[in-house]
Amino acid sequence: MIRMKAKKLAATLLFLCLLAGCTAGAEHFALRSRDVGACRKLLGNIRAIVVIVNTPQHPWTQAKRDELNRVSWSSVEYMNKNAQTYHANAHFDFCYLEYTLSGEYDENLNWYWEILHDYFHLNSMQEIQDYYTSPADVDEAPVLFMFNSWALSHTYTAYTDYPGWNEEFCVIFCDTKMNDNYLTHELYHQYGAIDLYDYHNEGIYALSRKYFPNSVMRCEGVEMDDLNAYLIGWTDTLSDKAQRFLKESEGMR
Ligand SMILES: [Zn+2]
Repeated sequence: MIRMKAKKLAATLLFLCLLAGCTAGAEHFALRSRDVGACRKLLGNIRAIVVIVNTPQHPWTQAKRDELNRVSWSSVEYMNKNAQTYHANAHFDFCYLEYTLSGEYDENLNWYWEILHDYFHLNSMQEIQDYYTSPADVDEAPVLFMFNSWALSHTYTAYTDYPGWNEEFCVIFCDTKMNDNYLTHELYHQYGAIDLYDYHNEGIYALSRKYFPNSVMRCEGVEMDDLNAYLIGWTDTLSDKAQRFLKESEGMR
């Protein structure tokens, strides 16, 4: 009897440890982007600032602007539906700005500072956010820069182990066929969502197929998943599924 109790106690303790290992986890690579930077929770009235960026060699055509308009609306629809699934108070719309750069896109972000200083006349993404959220009806104003050229779309996100970076924005390349949810994946990144695939490591991809096969963060589905819903502030707790994913993916990245 005593041995049984001891066994039960040991099992309970092990379970609690496992649970603590998952939930304590600011150390886990997947949790480093939650609730940091200027873009913390994707909640309230969200107005995406879609910036059409012309460059001397890659100007936007009217046909391409029309296509962007179509996918922007469908992306907004996807995000509104995703939020409803999680009963999250998040309502999306968007507006356009359009600028012409003096040079081309470059990885050193010269184009970014040119737009910030010369067009917005502001000094940081935080100031842009403050400016666009000053009307009382807007809570978040994520900025997405759209280029009519081709490279890998990516997002600058803040991380707990790199807290000084507050310039959070998306860079999206549109010189290809755009998906209906083209903006969705990158915009979620801006608020802390993580990729559920890796270029060099099949582990995360296989694991996410098991737990979140239709997640938009796998680039195959259109749905939100439990882990990323937690990261972007749509849920306050990790579901069992998300906890199992974290446990099994520990150290994979
Ligand atoms: Zn991604």
